[in-house]
Amino acid sequence: MFVRQDIKSLSEEHLIHRLGQYGIAPYRAGQILRWIYQRGAYSFSEMTDISKDLRRFLAERLAISRLETEQIQTSNDGSRKYLFRLDDGQHIESVLIPETGHWTLCISSQVGCGMGCKFCLTGRGGLERNLETSEIINQICAVRDDLQEPSSLTNIVFMGMGEPLANYNSVVQAIRIITDNNGLQFSGRRVTLSTAGLAPRIDDLGPDVKVNLAVSLNATDNDTRNKLMPINRTYPIEMLLSACRRFPLPSRRTIMFEYVLIAGVNDTPGDAERLARLLRPLRAKINLIPFNPYEGTEFRRPEEGAILTFQKVLMDRHYTAIIRYSKGCDIGAACGQLRARSKLKAQQSRLTER
Ligand code: SAH
Ligand code: SF4
Repeated sequence: MFVRQDIKSLSEEHLIHRLGQYGIAPYRAGQILRWIYQRGAYSFSEMTDISKDLRRFLAERLAISRLETEQIQTSNDGSRKYLFRLDDGQHIESVLIPETGHWTLCISSQVGCGMGCKFCLTGRGGLERNLETSEIINQICAVRDDLQEPSSLTNIVFMGMGEPLANYNSVVQAIRIITDNNGLQFSGRRVTLSTAGLAPRIDDLGPDVKVNLAVSLNATDNDTRNKLMPINRTYPIEMLLSACRRFPLPSRRTIMFEYVLIAGVNDTPGDAERLARLLRPLRAKINLIPFNPYEGTEFRRPEEGAILTFQKVLMDRHYTAIIRYSKGCDIGAACGQLRARSKLKAQQSRLTER
Protein backbone atom coordinates (compact mmCIF):
# COMPACT_ATOMS: atom_id res chain seq x y z
CA MET A 1 0.00 0.00 0.00
CA PHE A 2 1.29 3.50 -0.86
CA VAL A 3 1.64 6.26 1.64
CA ARG A 4 -0.34 8.96 -0.11
CA GLN A 5 1.47 12.25 -0.45
CA ASP A 6 -0.37 15.35 0.75
CA ILE A 7 -1.03 17.55 -2.24
CA LYS A 8 -1.42 20.58 0.07
CA SER A 9 2.33 20.45 0.70
CA LEU A 10 3.21 20.61 -3.01
CA SER A 11 3.77 23.73 -5.05
CA GLU A 12 2.66 23.62 -8.68
CA GLU A 13 6.22 22.92 -9.76
CA HIS A 14 6.46 19.94 -7.41
CA LEU A 15 3.08 18.62 -8.47
CA ILE A 16 4.05 18.84 -12.14
CA HIS A 17 7.15 16.82 -11.33
CA ARG A 18 5.15 14.28 -9.37
CA LEU A 19 2.54 13.86 -12.10
CA GLY A 20 5.33 13.57 -14.66
CA GLN A 21 6.54 10.47 -12.83
CA TYR A 22 3.13 8.91 -13.57
CA GLY A 23 3.21 10.07 -17.18
CA ILE A 24 0.47 12.66 -16.60
CA ALA A 25 0.60 15.92 -18.59
CA PRO A 26 1.86 19.06 -16.79
CA TYR A 27 -1.33 21.07 -17.46
CA ARG A 28 -3.20 18.73 -15.11
CA ALA A 29 -1.32 20.21 -12.14
CA GLY A 30 -2.87 23.65 -12.59
CA GLN A 31 -6.27 22.08 -13.19
CA ILE A 32 -6.11 20.06 -9.95
CA LEU A 33 -4.74 22.97 -7.91
CA ARG A 34 -7.47 25.32 -9.13
CA TRP A 35 -10.07 22.80 -8.00
CA ILE A 36 -8.50 22.69 -4.57
CA TYR A 37 -7.65 26.33 -3.92
CA GLN A 38 -10.18 28.21 -5.97
CA ARG A 39 -13.19 25.92 -5.82
CA GLY A 40 -12.51 24.45 -2.40
CA ALA A 41 -12.43 20.77 -3.44
CA TYR A 42 -11.42 18.24 -0.79
CA SER A 43 -11.69 15.15 -2.95
CA PHE A 44 -10.69 14.14 -6.46
CA SER A 45 -14.23 12.89 -7.10
CA GLU A 46 -15.41 16.51 -7.26
CA MET A 47 -13.08 17.26 -10.17
CA THR A 48 -15.61 16.62 -12.89
CA ASP A 49 -13.51 17.76 -15.83
CA ILE A 50 -11.03 14.95 -15.16
CA SER A 51 -11.84 11.41 -16.31
CA LYS A 52 -13.08 8.96 -13.69
CA ASP A 53 -10.12 6.65 -14.21
CA LEU A 54 -7.62 9.43 -13.71
CA ARG A 55 -9.47 10.68 -10.63
CA ARG A 56 -9.32 7.22 -9.11
CA PHE A 57 -5.64 6.88 -10.01
CA LEU A 58 -4.85 10.23 -8.35
CA ALA A 59 -6.91 9.51 -5.24
CA GLU A 60 -4.91 6.33 -4.67
CA ARG A 61 -1.66 8.27 -4.67
CA LEU A 62 -2.39 11.77 -3.40
CA ALA A 63 -4.29 13.01 -0.35
CA ILE A 64 -6.02 16.38 0.03
CA SER A 65 -5.72 17.20 3.72
CA ARG A 66 -7.71 19.62 5.85
CA LEU A 67 -7.45 20.85 9.43
CA GLU A 68 -9.91 19.95 12.11
CA THR A 69 -11.35 23.10 13.69
CA GLU A 70 -11.75 22.40 17.38
CA GLN A 71 -12.97 25.77 18.55
CA ILE A 72 -13.74 29.27 17.29
CA GLN A 73 -13.85 32.12 19.80
CA THR A 74 -15.15 35.56 18.91
CA SER A 75 -13.84 38.65 20.67
CA ASN A 76 -15.86 41.74 21.61
CA ASP A 77 -13.88 43.66 18.98
CA GLY A 78 -14.89 41.27 16.18
CA SER A 79 -11.65 39.30 15.87
CA ARG A 80 -11.92 35.53 15.85
CA LYS A 81 -9.52 32.93 17.17
CA TYR A 82 -9.46 29.49 15.54
CA LEU A 83 -8.07 26.54 17.44
CA PHE A 84 -7.01 23.71 15.15
CA ARG A 85 -6.19 20.13 16.05
CA LEU A 86 -3.36 18.57 14.06
CA ASP A 87 -3.16 14.88 13.13
CA ASP A 88 -0.73 14.14 15.97
CA GLY A 89 -3.01 15.75 18.55
CA GLN A 90 -1.04 19.00 18.80
CA HIS A 91 -2.87 22.31 18.53
CA ILE A 92 -2.25 25.58 16.74
CA GLU A 93 -4.12 28.87 16.57
CA SER A 94 -4.87 31.43 13.87
CA VAL A 95 -6.45 34.82 14.47
CA LEU A 96 -8.81 36.54 12.03
CA ILE A 97 -8.64 40.30 12.41
CA PRO A 98 -11.30 42.68 11.05
CA GLU A 99 -9.99 45.69 9.12
CA THR A 100 -11.96 48.30 7.19
CA GLY A 101 -13.61 46.37 4.38
CA HIS A 102 -11.56 43.20 4.64
CA TRP A 103 -10.00 40.60 6.93
CA THR A 104 -6.39 39.87 7.84
CA LEU A 105 -5.46 36.37 8.98
CA CYS A 106 -2.59 35.87 11.39
CA ILE A 107 -1.22 32.35 10.93
CA SER A 108 1.17 30.06 12.81
CA SER A 109 4.34 28.51 11.42
CA GLN A 110 5.33 26.23 14.32
CA VAL A 111 3.75 24.49 17.30
CA GLY A 112 5.21 26.69 20.04
CA CYS A 113 8.45 28.57 19.44
CA GLY A 114 12.06 27.91 20.31
CA MET A 115 13.30 31.50 20.33
CA GLY A 116 12.60 32.03 24.01
CA CYS A 117 11.74 35.74 23.96
CA LYS A 118 11.14 36.69 27.56
CA PHE A 119 8.00 38.76 27.03
CA CYS A 120 6.18 36.26 24.79
CA LEU A 121 3.77 33.63 26.05
CA THR A 122 4.28 31.42 22.98
CA GLY A 123 8.02 31.48 23.66
CA ARG A 124 7.56 30.33 27.24
CA GLY A 125 6.36 26.89 26.25
CA GLY A 126 9.31 26.19 23.94
CA LEU A 127 9.18 24.55 20.52
CA GLU A 128 7.08 21.44 20.00
CA ARG A 129 7.64 21.04 16.28
CA ASN A 130 7.68 22.71 12.89
CA LEU A 131 4.50 22.84 10.85
CA GLU A 132 4.30 21.12 7.48
CA THR A 133 3.55 23.31 4.47
CA SER A 134 0.07 21.73 4.32
CA GLU A 135 -0.62 22.67 7.96
CA ILE A 136 0.28 26.28 7.21
CA ILE A 137 -1.85 26.38 4.06
CA ASN A 138 -4.80 24.62 5.69
CA GLN A 139 -5.18 27.37 8.30
CA ILE A 140 -6.05 29.70 5.44
CA CYS A 141 -8.29 27.15 3.69
CA ALA A 142 -10.23 26.43 6.90
CA VAL A 143 -10.83 30.08 7.70
CA ARG A 144 -11.83 30.88 4.13
CA ASP A 145 -14.31 27.99 4.22
CA ASP A 146 -15.77 29.53 7.36
CA LEU A 147 -16.22 33.01 5.87
CA GLN A 148 -19.46 34.02 4.18
CA GLU A 149 -17.44 36.02 1.69
CA PRO A 150 -14.16 34.15 1.21
CA SER A 151 -12.74 36.89 -1.03
CA SER A 152 -12.90 39.34 1.88
CA LEU A 153 -9.84 37.58 3.33
CA THR A 154 -7.15 39.59 1.56
CA ASN A 155 -4.15 39.76 3.90
CA ILE A 156 -1.99 37.09 5.50
CA VAL A 157 0.53 37.75 8.26
CA PHE A 158 2.97 35.19 9.68
CA MET A 159 2.63 36.61 13.17
CA GLY A 160 0.98 33.75 15.03
CA MET A 161 2.79 30.99 16.89
CA GLY A 162 6.36 30.29 15.94
CA GLU A 163 9.35 31.83 14.20
CA PRO A 164 8.70 31.45 10.45
CA LEU A 165 12.36 31.71 9.43
CA ALA A 166 13.22 28.84 11.78
CA ASN A 167 10.93 26.65 9.64
CA TYR A 168 12.29 28.09 6.44
CA ASN A 169 11.63 25.50 3.74
CA SER A 170 8.04 24.75 4.71
CA VAL A 171 7.25 28.44 5.11
CA VAL A 172 8.74 29.43 1.75
CA GLN A 173 6.88 26.59 0.07
CA ALA A 174 3.67 27.77 1.76
CA ILE A 175 4.27 31.34 0.56
CA ARG A 176 4.61 30.04 -2.99
CA ILE A 177 1.23 28.31 -2.73
CA ILE A 178 -0.35 31.36 -1.05
CA THR A 179 0.77 33.70 -3.83
CA ASP A 180 0.53 31.34 -6.82
CA ASN A 181 -1.95 32.03 -9.60
CA ASN A 182 -3.08 28.42 -9.46
CA GLY A 183 -2.86 28.48 -5.67
CA LEU A 184 -4.54 30.75 -3.14
CA GLN A 185 -3.91 33.82 -5.33
CA PHE A 186 -2.94 36.33 -2.65
CA SER A 187 -0.89 39.25 -3.82
CA GLY A 188 2.64 39.12 -2.36
CA ARG A 189 2.11 42.73 -1.29
CA ARG A 190 -0.56 41.49 1.08
CA VAL A 191 1.53 38.79 2.71
CA THR A 192 3.84 39.72 5.59
CA LEU A 193 6.40 37.55 7.30
CA SER A 194 7.48 38.62 10.77
CA THR A 195 10.79 37.47 12.23
CA ALA A 196 12.64 37.81 15.50
CA GLY A 197 15.76 38.39 13.40
CA LEU A 198 17.43 35.31 11.89
CA ALA A 199 19.75 37.48 9.81
CA PRO A 200 21.11 34.86 7.36
CA ARG A 201 17.59 33.68 6.60
CA ILE A 202 16.50 37.25 5.84
CA ASP A 203 19.21 37.22 3.17
CA ASP A 204 17.79 33.97 1.76
CA LEU A 205 14.19 35.15 1.81
CA GLY A 206 14.49 38.17 -0.48
CA PRO A 207 15.56 36.24 -3.60
CA ASP A 208 13.26 33.27 -2.81
CA VAL A 209 9.84 34.95 -2.53
CA LYS A 210 8.30 38.41 -2.82
CA VAL A 211 6.61 39.25 0.46
CA ASN A 212 6.70 42.05 3.01
CA LEU A 213 9.20 41.76 5.80
CA ALA A 214 8.46 42.66 9.42
CA VAL A 215 11.17 42.54 12.06
CA SER A 216 10.53 42.35 15.80
CA LEU A 217 13.20 44.71 17.06
CA ASN A 218 11.90 45.49 20.56
CA ALA A 219 15.11 47.11 21.84
CA THR A 220 17.71 49.62 20.65
CA ASP A 221 20.85 48.37 22.37
CA ASN A 222 22.36 44.89 22.42
CA ASP A 223 22.34 44.57 26.21
CA THR A 224 18.61 45.07 26.46
CA ARG A 225 17.88 43.03 23.33
CA ASN A 226 20.10 40.16 24.55
CA LYS A 227 18.01 39.99 27.69
CA LEU A 228 14.65 40.16 25.93
CA MET A 229 15.45 38.09 22.84
CA PRO A 230 18.18 35.43 23.15
CA ILE A 231 18.52 35.26 19.34
CA ASN A 232 20.26 38.64 19.59
CA ARG A 233 23.33 36.94 21.07
CA THR A 234 23.76 35.12 17.77
CA TYR A 235 22.66 37.91 15.44
CA PRO A 236 23.13 41.25 17.21
CA ILE A 237 21.37 44.43 16.16
CA GLU A 238 24.06 45.57 13.67
CA MET A 239 24.04 42.23 11.88
CA LEU A 240 20.24 42.16 11.78
CA LEU A 241 19.94 45.68 10.41
CA SER A 242 22.61 45.03 7.74
CA ALA A 243 20.56 42.07 6.52
CA CYS A 244 17.53 44.36 6.46
CA ARG A 245 19.47 46.88 4.39
CA ARG A 246 20.26 44.19 1.85
CA PHE A 247 16.64 43.02 1.65
CA PRO A 248 15.36 43.75 -1.86
CA LEU A 249 12.50 46.25 -1.51
CA PRO A 250 10.28 47.22 -4.43
CA SER A 251 9.96 50.98 -4.87
CA ARG A 252 7.85 52.74 -2.25
CA ARG A 253 7.80 49.62 -0.01
CA THR A 254 9.16 49.63 3.51
CA ILE A 255 10.27 47.15 6.17
CA MET A 256 7.98 47.08 9.17
CA PHE A 257 9.75 47.20 12.53
CA GLU A 258 7.72 45.95 15.46
CA TYR A 259 8.52 47.31 18.87
CA VAL A 260 6.79 45.90 21.95
CA LEU A 261 6.68 48.69 24.52
CA ILE A 262 7.44 47.39 28.01
CA ALA A 263 7.33 49.68 31.06
CA GLY A 264 10.77 50.48 32.47
CA VAL A 265 12.54 48.23 29.94
CA ASN A 266 12.53 49.92 26.52
CA ASP A 267 10.00 52.76 26.68
CA THR A 268 11.90 56.00 27.36
CA PRO A 269 12.13 58.96 24.95
CA GLY A 270 15.87 58.12 24.78
CA ASP A 271 14.96 54.66 23.45
CA ALA A 272 12.73 56.28 20.86
CA GLU A 273 15.56 58.59 19.75
CA ARG A 274 17.96 55.66 19.47
CA LEU A 275 15.37 53.73 17.49
CA ALA A 276 15.00 56.64 15.07
CA ARG A 277 18.76 56.82 14.63
CA LEU A 278 19.17 53.06 14.13
CA LEU A 279 16.52 52.90 11.43
CA ARG A 280 17.68 56.00 9.54
CA PRO A 281 19.63 54.07 6.86
CA LEU A 282 16.53 51.98 6.10
CA ARG A 283 13.16 52.50 4.51
CA ALA A 284 11.27 51.71 7.69
CA LYS A 285 7.85 51.95 9.27
CA ILE A 286 7.30 51.29 12.95
CA ASN A 287 4.53 49.42 14.73
CA LEU A 288 4.45 50.15 18.44
CA ILE A 289 2.76 47.30 20.31
CA PRO A 290 1.99 48.09 23.95
CA PHE A 291 2.89 44.94 25.89
CA ASN A 292 -0.05 42.55 26.29
CA PRO A 293 0.05 41.17 29.80
CA TYR A 294 -0.81 37.57 30.69
CA GLU A 295 -0.88 35.61 33.90
CA GLY A 296 2.50 35.05 35.48
CA THR A 297 4.48 37.72 33.60
CA GLU A 298 6.70 40.20 35.41
CA PHE A 299 6.45 42.74 32.54
CA ARG A 300 4.01 45.63 32.43
CA ARG A 301 2.48 47.81 29.75
CA PRO A 302 3.64 51.45 29.91
CA GLU A 303 1.21 54.22 30.87
CA GLU A 304 -0.66 55.79 27.96
CA GLY A 305 1.39 59.01 28.29
CA ALA A 306 4.69 57.17 27.83
CA ILE A 307 3.34 55.34 24.78
CA LEU A 308 2.21 58.59 23.14
CA THR A 309 5.50 60.36 23.95
CA PHE A 310 7.44 57.48 22.39
CA GLN A 311 5.33 57.74 19.26
CA LYS A 312 5.74 61.52 19.10
CA VAL A 313 9.54 61.32 19.21
CA LEU A 314 9.40 59.03 16.17
CA MET A 315 6.85 61.11 14.30
CA ASP A 316 8.87 64.28 14.92
CA ARG A 317 11.68 62.48 13.13
CA HIS A 318 9.37 61.78 10.17
CA TYR A 319 8.67 58.12 10.80
CA THR A 320 5.32 56.49 10.29
CA ALA A 321 4.81 55.05 13.76
CA ILE A 322 1.48 53.41 14.47
CA ILE A 323 0.36 52.23 17.88
CA ARG A 324 -1.15 48.77 17.51
CA TYR A 325 -3.67 48.20 20.21
CA SER A 326 -3.94 44.45 19.76
CA LYS A 327 -7.26 42.93 18.94
CA GLY A 328 -8.61 39.90 20.70
CA CYS A 329 -7.12 40.61 24.15
CA ASP A 330 -10.26 39.25 25.84
CA ILE A 331 -9.90 35.84 24.17
CA GLY A 332 -6.13 35.54 24.46
CA ALA A 333 -5.65 36.24 20.76
CA ALA A 334 -3.50 39.37 21.05
CA CYS A 335 0.11 39.57 19.83
CA GLY A 336 2.31 37.18 21.70
CA GLN A 337 -0.55 35.58 23.60
CA LEU A 338 -1.05 32.47 21.51
CA ARG A 339 -0.25 29.26 23.22
CA ALA A 340 -0.88 25.60 22.56
CA ARG A 341 -3.13 25.43 25.57
CA SER A 342 -4.21 21.93 24.88
CA LYS A 343 -0.75 20.57 25.61
CA LEU A 344 -1.90 19.61 29.04
CA LYS A 345 -5.14 18.17 27.70
CA ALA A 346 -3.19 16.10 25.16
CA GLN A 347 -0.94 14.72 27.85
CA GLN A 348 -3.94 13.83 29.96
CA SER A 349 -5.62 11.99 27.11
CA ARG A 350 -2.42 10.09 26.37
CA LEU A 351 -2.42 8.98 30.00
CA THR A 352 -5.99 7.78 29.85
CA GLU A 353 -5.31 5.89 26.62
CA ARG A 354 -2.74 3.71 28.34
N1 SAH B 1 8.23 34.93 15.79
C1 SAH B 1 7.91 36.02 14.95
C2 SAH B 1 6.46 36.01 14.58
C3 SAH B 1 5.51 36.14 15.74
S1 SAH B 1 4.92 37.74 15.70
C4 SAH B 1 8.32 37.32 15.60
O1 SAH B 1 8.62 37.32 16.77
O2 SAH B 1 8.38 38.31 14.88
C5 SAH B 1 4.58 38.05 17.32
C6 SAH B 1 4.76 39.55 17.57
O3 SAH B 1 4.20 39.80 18.85
C7 SAH B 1 6.24 39.95 17.64
O4 SAH B 1 6.42 41.22 17.08
C8 SAH B 1 6.49 40.03 19.14
O5 SAH B 1 7.52 40.94 19.42
C9 SAH B 1 5.14 40.45 19.66
N2 SAH B 1 4.86 40.02 21.02
C10 SAH B 1 5.22 38.89 21.63
N3 SAH B 1 4.74 38.84 22.89
C11 SAH B 1 4.04 39.98 23.07
C12 SAH B 1 3.28 40.51 24.14
N4 SAH B 1 3.13 39.84 25.29
N5 SAH B 1 2.70 41.71 23.97
C13 SAH B 1 2.79 42.38 22.80
N6 SAH B 1 3.47 41.92 21.73
C14 SAH B 1 4.10 40.73 21.88
FE1 SF4 C 1 8.93 33.21 19.14
FE2 SF4 C 1 8.26 35.55 18.07
FE3 SF4 C 1 7.41 34.85 20.54
FE4 SF4 C 1 9.97 35.44 20.14
S1 SF4 C 1 8.22 36.83 19.90
S2 SF4 C 1 9.18 33.69 21.29
S3 SF4 C 1 10.28 34.63 18.11
S4 SF4 C 1 6.86 33.88 18.62
